[in-house]
Amino acid sequence: MCHQSLWARPILNPSNQPSGQPAPVQFGFQSMKAKGPDQAAFEQFKSQRYAEILSHEQAHQSAAGSLGGGIHIDFDSNGVAVGGHVPIQIPPLDSKNPEASYKSYCQVRNAALAPGDPSGQDCAVASKAQALMGQAQVLMARKKQKSQKETEVTS
Ligand SMILES: [Zn+2]
Repeated sequence: MCHQSLWARPILNPSNQPSGQPAPVQFGFQSMKAKGPDQAAFEQFKSQRYAEILSHEQAHQSAAGSLGGGIHIDFDSNGVAVGGHVPIQIPPLDSKNPEASYKSYCQVRNAALAPGDPSGQDCAVASKAQALMGQAQVLMARKKQKSQKETEVTS
């Protein structure tokens, strides 16, 4: 769960989230029958897990825009999707153009929180981006003060 709920507003809520719980599945399929009902339930569970993880990662990716990379999904030895990730670039704070940096960090934060179910890692990235947004804002304020002073001098 995300603790940063003050600003944890997912901007994308995938509507294709499976409703309800996944079908209960017994693990320990050592004597799996080729087309038994267990196999069918397992296949259903497998594709549900995959769709869940994919839609989570797609939410990250589409919100990340040009800062995001490709979706990677991890599977366990049974071929069940267990997790995924999308790499995201966090550009260094540009003191000459803090506005652009601020925009990038905002995008990173939104991308981290884009899925309806942000993970702990997602929240960590979001709070890192939030902290950087604060730093960029400080630079933006300084820049503004400076330009105001310059205006006073010249006017
Ligand atoms: Zn995530």
